[in-house]
Parts: sequence; C-alpha cells; structure tokens
Amino acid sequence: MQAARALRFSQTSNGAAPAQIMQPSSPSEIAAILRNPRPFPAPVRPMGFGSSTTRCLSAPGGTLVDLSKMDRVLRLDDSTVTVQPGIAIRELAEILEADGLELHGGFDLANRSVGGAVCAASLEAAMGGCPSQFAAHVTGLKVVSPEGNRFSAKVGDRSLLGLIRLSYGLLGIVYEISLKVRPIQTFTVQFARVGFGDFAKLASRLTFASSSTKLYLMPFKDRVFLELRRPTTEEAPGRKFAWQLKDWACYSALPTALRSLAKVVPIRRMRYPLSDTLSGATQSLVSRSFVSTGSNSLEQTGRFKNPGSKQGFSYCTWAFPAQDFGRIACAYQALCIEHYERTGFRCDMPAVVFRLNQDRSALLAPAFNEPMFTISSMTTEKDGWDDFIVDLAEFARTNNGVPFFNQTQGATSDHAINCYGRRLKVFRNTRRKLDPNDRMLNHFFSSYMA
Ligand SMILES: Cc1cc2nc3c(=O)[nH]c(=O)nc-3n(C[C@H](O)[C@H](O)[C@H](O)COP(=O)(O)OP(=O)(O)OC[C@H]3O[C@@H](n4cnc5c(N)ncnc54)[C@H](O)[C@@H]3O)c2cc1C
Repeated sequence: MQAARALRFSQTSNGAAPAQIMQPSSPSEIAAILRNPRPFPAPVRPMGFGSSTTRCLSAPGGTLVDLSKMDRVLRLDDSTVTVQPGIAIRELAEILEADGLELHGGFDLANRSVGGAVCAASLEAAMGGCPSQFAAHVTGLKVVSPEGNRFSAKVGDRSLLGLIRLSYGLLGIVYEISLKVRPIQTFTVQFARVGFGDFAKLASRLTFASSSTKLYLMPFKDRVFLELRRPTTEEAPGRKFAWQLKDWACYSALPTALRSLAKVVPIRRMRYPLSDTLSGATQSLVSRSFVSTGSNSLEQTGRFKNPGSKQGFSYCTWAFPAQDFGRIACAYQALCIEHYERTGFRCDMPAVVFRLNQDRSALLAPAFNEPMFTISSMTTEKDGWDDFIVDLAEFARTNNGVPFFNQTQGATSDHAINCYGRRLKVFRNTRRKLDPNDRMLNHFFSSYMA
C-alpha cells in the first residue's frame, strides 16, 4: 500500500521528491511537524490516498504528511460518525453497513480517503435538491493550523466550515471529521441511451430533475448513456454481487481489455472502432442486466474504481454551466472528433458526466453559483493525452468551464482565478492570515494564491 501511494504521489508531483515523508498518528505529531520548519521544511503538504491528478500534493524539498495511519472511527451514533482523515470511504462504508447505516451521497470512488474527499473537490451524481460535494455532509472538523495551533469548526460556524471544506490542505491539516449518516436507503436505477442531438434537446430537463444524473459520453459512436436514480420506498436495495460486477466491468475489465487491445492491434484507426464496440457493449450489458435497485452503501463498498492502481487510466475533469450543457455536450463531441482527425489521438474510454446541484457549502465549491455538469475525459492511452488536455483546456475556457484544483490538468491560473473570482480572493486573504510564513503553500498553489 505504501509503495502504491508513493507511486501515485510521484506521478502527481512531477518527479520532485519531498525531503521528508511523515506518517503522524496523532494531532500533536501533526502540530510538531507544522511548528518546526528546520526538521520539517516547507512546503508541508497533507496527503490522503494521493489520487489527485494535479500537482496539489507536490512538496519538492519539503514535507509530505501522509495521513494513512490516522484511520480510525472515533464515534458513531444513528446520525453522525466521527473519523480520522486517513480512513478510506470504502472501509467506512463497510463499518456503517454492519450497523444498517450509510453515508449521504453516491460517491463511487471508494478508495479515496475521507480527509481527501472533504478537503478537495469530490463529486457525485446527487439526487435533486441534495448537495453534490462529499464535504457538504460534514458537520464538524478539527484542524491543526499552519502554525501548529488546534481549532475546530462545526455546523453553527458556517463560514469557517465553508472555508475548511475544499481548502486543499492550505488552511491547516484536518485531523478529525464528523459526517452525517443515515439508515441505508434504496434507490431505483433507470438506464437509457440517445444520440448527442437528442440529448441536446433533453439536457435542460435534467438540470432540475429530481433524479440524480450520471452520463457516459461516447462521441465517436454518437451515443449518450443515461443512468438516472430515484429514491424508492422499496425495502431491498439490490444485490451486492451485481454492484460488484458493475464496478468490475466498468473500472477493471474494460480498461484492462482496452490496454490488451492496444497491444494486439497497435494501429489506432483499426483499434478505436473495436474499443468503441467494447465500451458500448459494457454499457449495454451493465444497463440491461446488472442493477435496477441499489444503495449508497452497496456502491461505496465496491473495490475496483481504484485510481492510481495498475488498472490505471488517465483522467481530467471540468465543470460546465448546466443551463448550456446540451450545446456543450455536442461541442465536446465535435472537439473529440476534430482533435482525432488532426492528431490521431482520442480517449478510448467513455467520458463520465455528473450533474452537480448548486452547492454553497464550501467557498471553493465549483457549483457555488449555479448547477453544473462535469465532464471527466478518461483514457488508458498515454501517448497524445497531454496535447488533448491542452485542447480540452482551451475548449473549457471558451465554454465557461470551471477547473478543480485537484482533478483538472491544463487549466491556466488566469482562467481559474477568473472562474473563482471574489471567492478566491476571500480564500487567499484567509490563507495569508492563517499561514503568514507560507508553510503549506507549494509552487502549484502559489500561482493561484499570490
Ligand atoms: C482514475 C481516477 C478517477 C477519479 N474519479 C473521481 C471521481 O469519480 N470523482 C471525484 O470526485 N474524483 C475523482 N478522482 C479524483 C480524486 O480521486 C479525488 O479528488 C479524491 O477525492 C482525492 O482523495 P484522496 O484521498 O486521494 O486525496 P489526496 O489526493 O491525497 O488529497 C487531495 C487534496 O486534499 C488535501 N488533503 C488531503 N487530506 C487532507 C487533510 N487531512 N487535511 C487537509 N488537507 C488534506 C491534499 O493536500 C490535496 O490538496 C479520480 C482520480 C483518478 C486518478
């Protein structure tokens, strides 16, 4: 596990190694690290599972604080669980399940840490009217400040809580997290598929739909697969095995098959139609036969969507205004086709889309001002991906795309500063007060925080 974390970290840190990697097991050890710059040089960067795809964790010559040893459940009752930040969402979901409880929100990337999900943008396809960030379900946090002092924030301190949620390890290290829990609830899942043209006509109806909305875009097949969930009063949340099979098919079997295909059929123009057939068949199979009911609990105990593992695929997410998403989805299809014709590269996996409901629970929430749809482009192919990211960033800039500091590569600092505007200014001022010596500021964030 340590080797895997180190590998993920070196991928996101651009090769520059920290001078120290610390694994504290208590808040006093965290405070000692932050207070003592000589043995623990800046930048001091906290790390959960290390699955972020930007250089937000990078700490060249500095101190990486790996929180994986702080992974205990501290308290649990019928409505709240209090945990240390290093526990994985999956482990927590399994513990809650044994008591008939589950986390709010459909977060399917179960291997990330609770600390990482709270302190960075972590998205889900929420039901209508529910917040769409994992951090929104936090009711209390305990933090060691960049100067080594302890403080806490709870529901009554709305603005403080809103600052620490999605603070990307710039306002201190979170060492205790209280989250809302509830009895396991069942939802139904409905699948459909349409062409991009028809999707453009119905997209506006999805913006405020009561169902949660997750989409899979296949630009070269002209297919949009829809996965809509609705709460139900049915008792049985479905079969665990079926959810595990869905998880395995989409996030393990498909990327593995695509990578094998690349070895057997090296010529891209011959391979891509086969990749599309495989991806389309996986989607059809999943939608027809696997799951018709489920629960957050069933989904979160899945093991295969494991970013950074050897099933590895590259991944880049932007959010776009929901009111214009029908047009933007078609423009994304055109971008993919044009880029492919010009460069010979295209993503070989379907892009995943979530509808994000408007969510003001965190100052740096991407959907703070309005509902958004995210597009996560994914590929198992590395050759050509970097150029695609540059074109995608330009596409996002001209289509009011909002980047995430932990999952959007290629965003320019000017564009990000523009998107987050006054909110980023407030965040920057708070950061300066809490961290006057820039203990936690790395090169990546300094371009946004200067
Ligand atoms: C293949 C792949 C698929 C992905 N799919 C999704 C997806 O479906 N949905 C999604 O939302 N994201 C996705 N991501 C992005 C990423 O996994 C998430 O952003 C995740 O929430 C990060 O969690 P982590 O534990 O890995 O945090 P890390 O990457 O370790 O940290 C994230 C940020 O939080 C800070 N941080 C971590 N712990 C603490 C703490 N205790 N105190 C203060 N700051 C802290 C870090 O400094 C960093 O800035 C994907 C990534 C990959 C590579």
